[in-house]
Order: sequence, then structure tokens, then C-alpha cells
Amino acid sequence: MIQVSNIHKAFGSNQVLKGIDLTIHKGQVVVILGPSGSGKTTFLRCLNALEIPDQGVIAFDDGSLTVDFATKPKKKTLLALQRKAGMVFQSYNLFPHKTALENLMLGPTVVQGQSKAQAREQALALLEKVGLSDKADLYPFQLSGGQQQRVGIARALAIEPSLLLFDEPTSALDPELVQDVLGTMKQLASEGWTMVVVTHEINFARDVADHVVLIEDGVVVEEGSAQQLFEDSKHPRTQAFLQRIV
Ligand code: ADP
Repeated sequence: MIQVSNIHKAFGSNQVLKGIDLTIHKGQVVVILGPSGSGKTTFLRCLNALEIPDQGVIAFDDGSLTVDFATKPKKKTLLALQRKAGMVFQSYNLFPHKTALENLMLGPTVVQGQSKAQAREQALALLEKVGLSDKADLYPFQLSGGQQQRVGIARALAIEPSLLLFDEPTSALDPELVQDVLGTMKQLASEGWTMVVVTHEINFARDVADHVVLIEDGVVVEEGSAQQLFEDSKHPRTQAFLQRIV
């Protein structure tokens, strides 16, 4: 279990996150919904220290890591958090001058000090897992958006994280490629990966989420099972949000 408490983040005078709490149970898929600009991406980035919250605590209950942002954590602590949480980006963020295989080998060799041979073996296995064995030596520009995103997912897996973070992973894709990536994510969910997913894919949330969180204006408006939020919500802001998007 990962306990996230009281996350605050401002950009200058713009107070974006106003005290967000979230409990992420091992093996669960948490889907974060909310209107554009409500702070979803910023929250996700706080979970692996791509943004540094102004205050708040992220604690792994196995005792392996607790980060209290109020005490200005050391770089080493932030790196430890980054290794625990692999991020899949909306725009893939692959290195354009490296092949799919090389993209996957980078984290393990540079950050984790794995040997090249070991990283290569692992990268090939991950490419096979996401159905891209035959694309290992291609560069990102030679791959479709869906294939690039599956490389992005494999890259996040390559650091062997405890938690996978997905920031609108399908929103840059052509509609016919969306299912491709959602299928890979469903596979990971069924394998028991712990995942936090920011998405507008309501059907994915309905089918796969164990827990759904609605964020608006930097606070959690409502959270619960997909059934609770989509079928039984009594909260006017949840109803208004769902009416706008469904
Ligand atoms: P969402 O993901 O819900 O669309 P974001 O977290 O992307 O929302 O953005 C929330 C707010 O934070 C927006 O007002 C956005 O302009 C602001 N913001 C996000 N990142 C930065 C940044 N790096 N610098 C300044 N403002 C930012």
C-alpha cells in the first residue's frame, strides 16, 4: 500500500494542488478523472518527484521509503521515489535517436547500473511482452503512435517499479490505435501491477479501475469504486462532470 497525504503544489501564485490524499493499494488500478486544468497531471508528476510538492507525504507501507516534502528531501530520496514509480507520458517521450531497444536499455544501464548484456536481455523480453519483438531495432519515427506508446510502457516497466503512472497515455493517439494501448494496460492490470492512470477513457475506468478519483480545482471531490462514481454518485459536481463527458 502507498499512502499519499496532503499534497500541496503551487506554481507561483497558482495554487494547483490543495491537499490531496490518496491510498493506493497494491495491485489496484486507480483512475483519476477530472476537468482539464484541475491538477491531475501535476498530482501524478508529484508521485514520482517530476514535480516537487510544497508539502505532503508519500509513504510506502512496507517501510521501504517515506518522503516528507515539508522537510525538503535530499536528492537521493527523490531518486529513490523515481525508481519506485515508472511514468508513461502522453507524448511517449522516447529518445528519437535511439532504437526501441536502446530506449529500454537506458534506464537500467545508466540509472540502475545493470550490465549492457543484462539490460538487453530484459529489454527484449519487455518488447516481447508488449508485442513488439520485431521492432527492437527501429527508431521511434518508424513506429506508429500506438507502438511508440507500448515502447513507453515497456520502458516504464524496465526500471522494475512498484507503481506505474500513466498520464493520459492514449490522448495523443489516433482513435484506431487507442485500443492497442488500452489492451496492453489491461494486460498489466490483470498481471497485478499497481497503476495510477489519468485518463478521459471512461470505458477503461468502468472496466478496469478498482478505484476512481475525481479531482477538481486541486481537491478530491469524490472517490470510490467505478460503480459508486458512475452509477450511484450523489455528488452534484461528479454528476455535472460525468454529464459533460459521457
Ligand atoms: P490537468 O492535468 O488536470 O489538465 P494540470 O496538472 O496539467 O491539470 O495543470 C493544472 C494547473 O497547473 C494549470 O493551471 C496549469 O497551467 C498549471 N501548471 C501545470 N504545470 C505547470 C508548470 N510547470 N508551470 C506552471 N504552471 C503549471
